[in-house]
Amino acid sequence: MRLILVGPPGAGKGTQAKFLSRHYGIPHISTGDIFRANVAAQTPLGLEAKRHMDGGNLVPDEITIAMVRDRLSEGDTSGGFLLDGFPRTLAQAAALDSMLVEMDTPLDAVLEFQVDDEEVVIRLAGRRTCQKCGHIWHVKFDPPAEEGVCDLCGGELIQRDDDRPETIRRRLEVYEEQTSPLVDYYAKAGLLVSISASASVEEVTDRAVEALSA
Ligand code: AMP
Repeated sequence: MRLILVGPPGAGKGTQAKFLSRHYGIPHISTGDIFRANVAAQTPLGLEAKRHMDGGNLVPDEITIAMVRDRLSEGDTSGGFLLDGFPRTLAQAAALDSMLVEMDTPLDAVLEFQVDDEEVVIRLAGRRTCQKCGHIWHVKFDPPAEEGVCDLCGGELIQRDDDRPETIRRRLEVYEEQTSPLVDYYAKAGLLVSISASASVEEVTDRAVEALSA
């Protein structure tokens, strides 16, 4: 299965990607996670990415495309992959098309998560991520037993810098302007599968698996 997840920030792509990559036995490739790992390790890529991420803007296409090209050339993608957060621009989508032609591996589906802006803001502003294991909690919808501490591993929970209210608004604008045209692009290619992501995590996973098997 070669799958792409598309949807606004806060639609639950990262959470669903973890379930779906396990379900289909394919690696979960999140460009946001790769950038954040580089920021934490203070690599040159991370320092460059951080300048854009902190303002809620996209990292330039050239950098992002080169990074994905490298990642897709690793051996674990030969049986499929799940791309979470890439592509995010039409230029990235076109570059991905060329990579897949080179690899002779067409996409199976593009899964779109639909959720409205108000819900996105509530979801993102309450999101807390474990610094140690990466698990995502929510102060209201999925709180840990002890505030600020991960139930699973005891790690410290932090708010992502780009989950602050002013940055959230910018990320939504960027989604609307630069990423939402991909929905049409993949609909025209006959690859788009859309589901409503306004439901519990389990319900959205069920909807996703059902929609992908239809
Ligand atoms: P995410 O975790 O997917 O919400 O990504 C967090 C941030 O990383 C985004 O707001 C962008 O700044 C950057 N980023 C992630 N994926 C991409 C991409 N495909 N193109 C450009 N920037 C990206």
